[in-house]
Amino acid sequence: MQKVNTKLPAFVRQEGGSMEQKNLDQIIRETVARYMNRSLIVAGNWKMNTTPVEGVELFKGIVAKKGEVCSCVNFIVAPPFTHLSEIVKLSRGTGIGVGAQNCAAEAKGAYTGELSAEMIASLGVEYVILGHSERRQYYGETSETLNKKMAQAYANNLTPIYCVGENLEEREAGKHFDVVRQQVEEVVFNLTPEQFSKLIIAYEPVWAIGTGKTATADQAQEIHAYIRKVLAEKFGDAANETVILYGGSCKPANAAEIFAKEDVDGGLIGGAALKVSDFKGIIDAFN
Ligand code: PEP
Repeated sequence: MQKVNTKLPAFVRQEGGSMEQKNLDQIIRETVARYMNRSLIVAGNWKMNTTPVEGVELFKGIVAKKGEVCSCVNFIVAPPFTHLSEIVKLSRGTGIGVGAQNCAAEAKGAYTGELSAEMIASLGVEYVILGHSERRQYYGETSETLNKKMAQAYANNLTPIYCVGENLEEREAGKHFDVVRQQVEEVVFNLTPEQFSKLIIAYEPVWAIGTGKTATADQAQEIHAYIRKVLAEKFGDAANETVILYGGSCKPANAAEIFAKEDVDGGLIGGAALKVSDFKGIIDAFN
């Protein structure tokens, strides 16, 4: 799953001033970043939508369009649990990755209604969305829970797509940087460097999810660059390789501008992932 992405992270570009002022470390860092490749990913979060039959139809529609879009883009779909087994089977040979939308915090036992990371991985699922704002908001997921879920995901070779983002009140109070920093520090900073190297992050401002309001491309770039800077404080240059997706009312009409930004490596798509033409239209943003 590699694409060519020579975008230089903004924090590398903005720091340091002229070449004369830069010390050797900065020049090395910049050079490494310049030749770094990050995957471009468009992931569809189907949430609690579609019956299994409808989900299979949707997936087949996506497969049918795959040949028409840039081969540089990696697709992931995250259907409801009930569809995973069938969609994993259908995904074989298509190059489309399949993810779950959640996993349990515990490995096994008396947790009625829960689904373990092991169960999910045993189906052939590769990814799991963790920390989605709807899970934080409606199911009280905290950093403590998410640390456990992350551990379960990694123990079972699932790649987490870890979501962060502020709500409207926090954005209006200018606290969005602090909020995402906290969400990153309390969970991502607990990963080992090896675990971190596999992590995907999704920045999803809560005020933009399902609301029709989208962050502007500049707002997305500003906070994606900030997240990468925070990641670099802990993981150094490895942060240049972290895929950071944007999510929040992404549509064919706004995707190109947002995805063109240096630190935006694709999108996590909700509503628009449920219509083949919209999902394809978003992926076309990379053409
Ligand atoms: C999401 O919930 O992950 C999301 C991005 O939703 P939407 O695209 O519908 O705003």
